[in-house]
Amino acid sequence: MDLRGTFSWACCLLSSLYISSAFALPVGNSSPVAEILDPAVGQFWHVTDLHLDPTYHITEDHTKVCSSSHGANASNPGPFGDFLCDSPYQLILSAFNFIKSSGQQASFMIWTGDSPPHIPVKELSTDVVINVIGNMTTTIQSLFPNLQVFPALGNHDYWPQDQLPISSSKVYDAVANFWKPWLSEEAIHTLRKGGFYSQTVPSHRNPQSLRIISLNTNLYYSPNNVTLNQTDPANQFEWLENTLKSSRQNKEKVYVIAHVPVGYLPYSRNTTAMREYYNEKLIGIFHKYSDIIAGQFYGHTHRDSIMVLSDSKGNPVSSLFVAPAVTPVKSVKEKFTNNPGIRLFQYDLNDYRLLDTWQYYLNLTEANMKEEPSWKLEYILTKAYGIEDLQPKNLYELAKQFTVLDNKQFLTYYKHFFVSYDSDIMCSGDCKTFQICAIMNLDQESYANCLEQYGLWHMQ
Ligand SMILES: [Zn+2]
Repeated sequence: MDLRGTFSWACCLLSSLYISSAFALPVGNSSPVAEILDPAVGQFWHVTDLHLDPTYHITEDHTKVCSSSHGANASNPGPFGDFLCDSPYQLILSAFNFIKSSGQQASFMIWTGDSPPHIPVKELSTDVVINVIGNMTTTIQSLFPNLQVFPALGNHDYWPQDQLPISSSKVYDAVANFWKPWLSEEAIHTLRKGGFYSQTVPSHRNPQSLRIISLNTNLYYSPNNVTLNQTDPANQFEWLENTLKSSRQNKEKVYVIAHVPVGYLPYSRNTTAMREYYNEKLIGIFHKYSDIIAGQFYGHTHRDSIMVLSDSKGNPVSSLFVAPAVTPVKSVKEKFTNNPGIRLFQYDLNDYRLLDTWQYYLNLTEANMKEEPSWKLEYILTKAYGIEDLQPKNLYELAKQFTVLDNKQFLTYYKHFFVSYDSDIMCSGDCKTFQICAIMNLDQESYANCLEQYGLWHMQ
């Protein structure tokens, strides 16, 4: 199917956009979630895994609702999507419209990739992939002309999927052009070469800068054959170390953003999302610079999860957050999936310490039934779990509580893992072990120890 030309509107707006600094969202909006913020508290949005399926349409033949169902009958298709399909444009638009009308003031937005749909490689092309990323970019830029956005590339933001290259390419070039209104010249330069960049966030009140480092962790993703046997694809590790070194010298704080997360997948046994060698290498760098890394933000798994990195003595040193997807898609074989989700982070403007997460979601079944997309607050992290803020020690203590049998907070965490898709989903035994070991252990040695502690290491 030819998807080209499906979305061509507003592309010419791109060059004329000018992006200014903080607090771009309208104030005083009559929103149910608006609150008066402490002036020392900053906020930013995190959206990820939009996965637009431009073929989505309501039709009597449910096998033909969307290409992303791969010929399976859509389960209950409505205007805002179906659990067997990637996102219709209406769903994505409803998410951004919610952000716009929420009344929440945000200094910036992070957008951690994966715009194209999950459809067979032969049904896509470089041009279609570029077109979809361009459409999503234009959508964001049109709705938020004054908002600073920091994007990261996902494994689907390339054709063929997962095969992101180690040098310049048509896709890197295209996204560099799309994202020019948001990024500095230096950022655009490295983005064109290797799909990664760093840039500081302008601040009117703080002489200390916050630097966003947007990594192309797709280079480390297991299915990427381009980087097989390479020690430092696109020299990103070298660049990352140099960037962190000068950040430390300049007394900056850093937020790391990327698509594919470090660490272990919480829903399977002993599986890293990236190749183990790269995972170990990244964890080593994050250990070394944990004094300046104030937060890490990922997507890719489509689920809502946390991780806590500890140093060699077992002290928690870094908080990591994996945000759930906007797409609700699942395969026919999967029992559960996520409702569409987006989130807002709160941080201390004085030292960039992370304070809280406001997780919003759309109950897809209800939205389709009422033909109205009522995005709602799902939870506020500190309130849901009774912790003070998002500091590594607090997340670590929370994870320790999870280990207790029938711990209520873990039940809540597991419900949130699927963005309240089904409140009755249970997780005990191996399921709980994998979750907890993945939250608390990001390197091979400590993860293995964790499984062993639970007596599972030699079980297959
Ligand atoms: Zn994805």
